[in-house]
Amino acid sequence: MFERVNPATGEKLDAIAEMDDAAVEATLARAQSTFREWRVSSLDTRTALLGRLADAFEADKRRLAEIATREMGKTLKSSIAEVEKCAAAFRHYAEHGPSFLEGEDVAVSKGSARTRWLPLGPVLAVMPWNFPYWQVVRFMAPAIMAGNVGLLKHASITQGVAAALEEMVKKAGGPDGLFQNLAIKSDAVEKVIADKRVVAVTLTGSEGAGAKVAETAGKHLKKVVLELGGSDPFIVMPSADIDKAAEQAVTARIQNTGQSCICGKRMIVHADVYDAFAAKFFEAMKAVKAGDPMDEESDMGPLSSFDQRDTVLDQLGRMKKAGATLEFGGEKLDSPGAYMSAGVLTGVPRNADVAREEVFGPVAMLFRVTDIDDAIALANDIPYGLGSSVWTNDSGEQDRFERDIAAGMTAVNQMLASAPEAPFGGVKLSGYGRELGPWGMYEFMNMKTVMLP
Ligand code: NDP
Repeated sequence: MFERVNPATGEKLDAIAEMDDAAVEATLARAQSTFREWRVSSLDTRTALLGRLADAFEADKRRLAEIATREMGKTLKSSIAEVEKCAAAFRHYAEHGPSFLEGEDVAVSKGSARTRWLPLGPVLAVMPWNFPYWQVVRFMAPAIMAGNVGLLKHASITQGVAAALEEMVKKAGGPDGLFQNLAIKSDAVEKVIADKRVVAVTLTGSEGAGAKVAETAGKHLKKVVLELGGSDPFIVMPSADIDKAAEQAVTARIQNTGQSCICGKRMIVHADVYDAFAAKFFEAMKAVKAGDPMDEESDMGPLSSFDQRDTVLDQLGRMKKAGATLEFGGEKLDSPGAYMSAGVLTGVPRNADVAREEVFGPVAMLFRVTDIDDAIALANDIPYGLGSSVWTNDSGEQDRFERDIAAGMTAVNQMLASAPEAPFGGVKLSGYGRELGPWGMYEFMNMKTVMLP
């Protein structure tokens, strides 16, 4: 069983049954037979379904949002925004999908050639709880457009969202088997990846889960896309708008109670503006209100689970032991829920192992650097390379950051956020492959070469 607990109250919601082997087998068989039909469906059929899904997500956003908020604690307003973003992604692929699928002519020395995009088959998506709709939809929308079918192994704590996603596809008129929820635990994933009917796998989550899934997929020679964690730098240089940078640094660090892969986690500030930035940043972080996620007034809800809060508290303990100073916050709140206060660490020793870990909670590390070289060196001194946010009005510095930060994404004078149109993904231990835009769709497609006389 999957026990569902509301992290805002500690109260047990219910328990959802795990699928047995026979149910998994039936799900895989359905995926395979639906793929035979869906792969030859017309582009109009696919775009019409995506359009209906967009409408359905919009129309049902409050109900869907409440399911997520109850299961993993994010504020209701952010759950609603997440569902709206899913609707935008469905619309994006409905509108642009057909042009993404157009083949290209290729110049060859004899005859002529062109490319043709073909779907691959049933793809397994192993997904996390932090953006339980968005992480899935950014795989699901391009998969449907491509002509693939999807199998979802969602996080154990967001099984209500998993069931709702399958139900939404059916309600919008998607054929039975187009997008199915596999209610299984992580120890049952290996067998699914090994199954001949499953052609590829995408995972968003931790490095450990990514390595395990990639190992199994590698053994069976199946394509993998991995979107893993990050400890993104948020760099502030003297020419930046310091007020705006400080304000956005707070949003970056507390959104989703700090449980976002691409939010700035390490604030790296030039010595000339460090004090000005720190004063504003501290003041705004101290004012962050953690409270009932259903309440409009709350800036952030609880952590997604008590275990997740314990992980963050343990990291803070190890940072302090390594010599860091917890300036304020980062404490359990007196409540039955998994709440903690927003906090800031300074003096984190750069070479401590714990300084290189991803802190998935509302606590920022603040560093002082002497110049741009120092900022880039510190930004890159982690095993991850997902996103980055740089604040400078100097075009030469902007160019250096774009070129030299080892990350999949760099946002200039703004907080990094994903967009349906733009490629999303990382380098180093943050994974490989790209999601969104045409690139995300092509990851799970066969680019066939057609040679003509
Ligand atoms: P996990 O990586 O464990 O979970 C993500 C998904 O992978 C879930 O569906 C999980 O299932 C599944 N999974 C876990 N282990 C395996 C495995 N061995 N084989 C197959 N599937 C597996 O994340 P956690 O929830 O444990 O969070 C731990 C840390 O991961 C966080 O503190 C954060 O640092 C990072 N993380 C990063 C995310 C991101 O957006 N990049 C998202 C979530 C977490 P199940 O829930 O059943 O274990």
